[in-house]
Amino acid sequence: MKPYKTESGKTLVTLIPGDGIGVEVTAATKKIIEATGAAIEWEEREAGASVFKKGIPSGVTPDTIESIGKTRIALKGPLETPVGYGEKSANVTLRKLFETYGNLRPVREIPGVPTPYSGRGIDLIVVRENVEDLYAGIEHMQTPGVAQCLKLISRKGCEKIVRLAFEVARAEGRKKVHCATKANIMKLTEGMLKRTFEEVAREYGDIEAIHIIIDNCAHQLVKLPEQFEVIVTTNMNGDIISDLTSALVGGLGFAPSANVGNEVAIFEAVHGSAPKYAGKNIINPTAMILSGAMMLRYLTLFKEAAMIENAVVATLEEGKTMPRDVVGDAKAASTTAYTDAIIANFGKVPSRARARDYKPIRMPEIDKRPDFVRPTARRVVGVDVFIESALSPDEIGKGVTALMEGTPLLLKMVASRGTKVYPAMGAITDTVDQFRCRLMMRDTAGGLKDDVIISVLQKIGAHHRWAHIEKLQEFDGNPGFTKAQGED
Ligand code: NAP
Repeated sequence: MKPYKTESGKTLVTLIPGDGIGVEVTAATKKIIEATGAAIEWEEREAGASVFKKGIPSGVTPDTIESIGKTRIALKGPLETPVGYGEKSANVTLRKLFETYGNLRPVREIPGVPTPYSGRGIDLIVVRENVEDLYAGIEHMQTPGVAQCLKLISRKGCEKIVRLAFEVARAEGRKKVHCATKANIMKLTEGMLKRTFEEVAREYGDIEAIHIIIDNCAHQLVKLPEQFEVIVTTNMNGDIISDLTSALVGGLGFAPSANVGNEVAIFEAVHGSAPKYAGKNIINPTAMILSGAMMLRYLTLFKEAAMIENAVVATLEEGKTMPRDVVGDAKAASTTAYTDAIIANFGKVPSRARARDYKPIRMPEIDKRPDFVRPTARRVVGVDVFIESALSPDEIGKGVTALMEGTPLLLKMVASRGTKVYPAMGAITDTVDQFRCRLMMRDTAGGLKDDVIISVLQKIGAHHRWAHIEKLQEFDGNPGFTKAQGED
């Protein structure tokens, strides 16, 4: 990443104040960064609620996109997203538009911020995949009452995030990386991250590589968080466990983050716009300030970053000017007074939790070609047809079996929400009006041709509404699909 330099030789950073408390926490961060003397200039741009109000559905204006495309680096306040309805998240849009595929979320015990874990030395970083998974946001109503969200995981995306996690470990002098997945259930998607991790780990012999199932990871994080150094995980898992890890060291008020890619990096607090605190000058700006320090370090301004981190810890350790989420409203300093106290403490080195020595992160260079995995052999062996029907599984199964007579395909099974319901197994499975009819080739020699799929679809479509189809493919002899529960 080459930062954009202004005529005066300073690095230009896109500053997005954002919504709610964003305005206050970004103002505090800007003031602190400027006080370090770092050679930064700001280009202020808009995103979020104000942009939605202008009728721009992405929540990001063209000149914000143009600015980040130019500066390649942004400091961003939280952006409001309507929950459960309305427009997509402008945050996710920005992360995806600029392929910031890695979300780095460090947490470290802070002296002066008491928690049930104080004294145990929590010091870890969650490396969350940031652009794939369920957050690809590909959702469809399959029937009026059944919704679907596609969980998209690519081998290329896994390589990027896993290599980034190991590179972060090296840059921060860490010795252990955990990969947290749900590969026991989602063998192709979450399993892809696990397999990639195990392969890539061989190239990083200096770092211990451990796989852990995500639910146990959540359990272990509460029970023995100090065992973790780096946790790499998929997008949604990372979103959830990184809120959990932030709570271990004092909560969202102390949780910074960086969205990094090979071209662009966007720095922001983990928290949202906390609208109930907006404009009151009482919110804790630490998460955003520490995100600013991460940005400086990313720009290799290590001295300035350490100056901020040490001053933040020194201020909290001193305990005289404290944010409200640590000492409560009655004793809390205002956002601006706390900010000034940090600046006044520049040069102080805390007795504990000093800023560590960092090296620049070596961003992984990954093959850019879209066809990242190229099998030598492939064939289509069947097709899953998803239909809408209020009939019983038995009626559907017998009907589709009859429809397949005289075609190269036979009905292997019908599944409802992932469980085989035809042929019946004597189990008690509730059904909805969405069914998956698995049609396999009678003669497995050769491969299934599209014209057969289309004619079979027309036959089924004459009797049932179909919503979508999925080809059942084999790559180098390995099935590219999983079985339903109960399917043999
Ligand atoms: P939130 O804004 O993070 O606030 C949730 C709670 O976290 C607050 O009520 C407060 O807890 C605590 N908190 C948040 N920021 C804090 C800070 N700086 N200092 C101390 N405590 C802090 O989450 P939300 O209420 O779920 O979401 C509000 C909006 O923000 C939504 O529109 C959401 O989509 C958006 N959001 C944006 C981002 C982003 O831009 N990256 C991230 C998350 C959410 P107490 O009530 O206990 O004081």
